Amino acid sequence: MNEDYSINTKCVQAGYTPGNGEPRQIPIIQSTTFKYDTSEDMGKLFDLEESGYFYSRLANPTCDSVAAKIAALEGGSAAMLTSSGQAANFFALFNICEAGSHIVASSSIYGGTFNLIAITMAKMGIEATFVSPDATEDELDAAFKDNTRAMFGETIANPALTVLDIEKFARVAHKHGVPLVVDNTFPTPVNCRPIEWGADIVTHSTTKYMDGHGAAVGGAIIDSGKFNWMEHKDKFPGLCTPDASYHGLIYAEKFGQEGAFITKATVQLMRDLGCVQSPQSAFMLNLGLESLHVRMQRHVENAQAVAEFLEQQPQVVYVSYTGLKSSRYYNLAQKYLPNGGCGVVSFELKGGRKAAETFLKHLKLAAVETHVADARTCCLNPATSTHRQLTDEQLEAAGIPAGLIRLSCGLEDKDDLIKDIQQALLTVD
Ligand SMILES: *Cc1c(COP(=O)(O)O)cnc(C)c1O
Repeated sequence: MNEDYSINTKCVQAGYTPGNGEPRQIPIIQSTTFKYDTSEDMGKLFDLEESGYFYSRLANPTCDSVAAKIAALEGGSAAMLTSSGQAANFFALFNICEAGSHIVASSSIYGGTFNLIAITMAKMGIEATFVSPDATEDELDAAFKDNTRAMFGETIANPALTVLDIEKFARVAHKHGVPLVVDNTFPTPVNCRPIEWGADIVTHSTTKYMDGHGAAVGGAIIDSGKFNWMEHKDKFPGLCTPDASYHGLIYAEKFGQEGAFITKATVQLMRDLGCVQSPQSAFMLNLGLESLHVRMQRHVENAQAVAEFLEQQPQVVYVSYTGLKSSRYYNLAQKYLPNGGCGVVSFELKGGRKAAETFLKHLKLAAVETHVADARTCCLNPATSTHRQLTDEQLEAAGIPAGLIRLSCGLEDKDDLIKDIQQALLTVD
């Protein structure tokens, strides 16, 4: 598809162009395997001499069409789908790290990703240093070691809602000869395209806004095609030296700077670890993508209205939302997210845990859920759910006061949402 088209048009049509008389909608190729006339034909695929499909753990046409759309949206050279956002972040990092490697990561990231990097990848011999997203360039520099292989952060962090200074992080990563990996789940490419600001690899939990309807868990990885692996050959042997499992093929030579990263992650990591997305889920993800540009605008509009309303209420201590002038991330958000960030707002109720419980009980439209970024408004009090094992003192120390509410504004009418919040606030003293 023509690269000059607006992202709005790409959301609807990129990734799949039917030929004459072919299905208008992406066909769901629900087949594990593909047929060949001779074993010679199939052998060429196994040797990566020719591209084609032979087994859906490695590649499937439905998943490839949807991945191609996501690559177009992010402005990347190649992309792949994974079974979840967790798998996407793991594959993106493990594709360039191995036992003995080190990662510099923002400390303000999704809890699951923090566990993945700090606990599970540490068991594989990959260590990490966590840095504040607000760190100065000198502080970021100091976190790097000889064995650092990647830098990681989230455009808008879940749930802290901090905004990453992508240009600064990219500059530091590149000074140390490593790529910047950015999880762009919350803004989606509609509101921010990290590659345009210097990020090298972008990841997504497509479970959130991309799907947008709470229907299918999934993930995606996008390569910018801009990182010169061969220039840092010694750091990335997996991409720049022969792979014994493919008769000594060198990814960066055979597939070039634009294709090496995703090809290796597909034919090596997906082959061996198998965290594949089903064609059925990819089809549903694409239905979500077709309206992503329309939905994001409404999510932002609703969240902005709700955040401004909450800021005026006497029961509320503070409101955290990137679109509020009072946010410490307002200026960064204006730079990286000029059309708005996402639909998630967090705020603290004066009455603490008890007030939060009463408030949630009285909401009628917003449901209590461990989820965000859905068409239906949902909310959560970390103190009584995800973080219920912590005491009020421990919660305070973790920056999650007992009265904190995370509210993910859906696509309902904003006046109805505000009315619902207003009547629930009146039950809180
Ligand atoms: C939810 C989320 C993930 C994990 O994605 P799953 O699809 O649940 O595995 C990773 N990063 C961010 C920012 C998320 O919000």
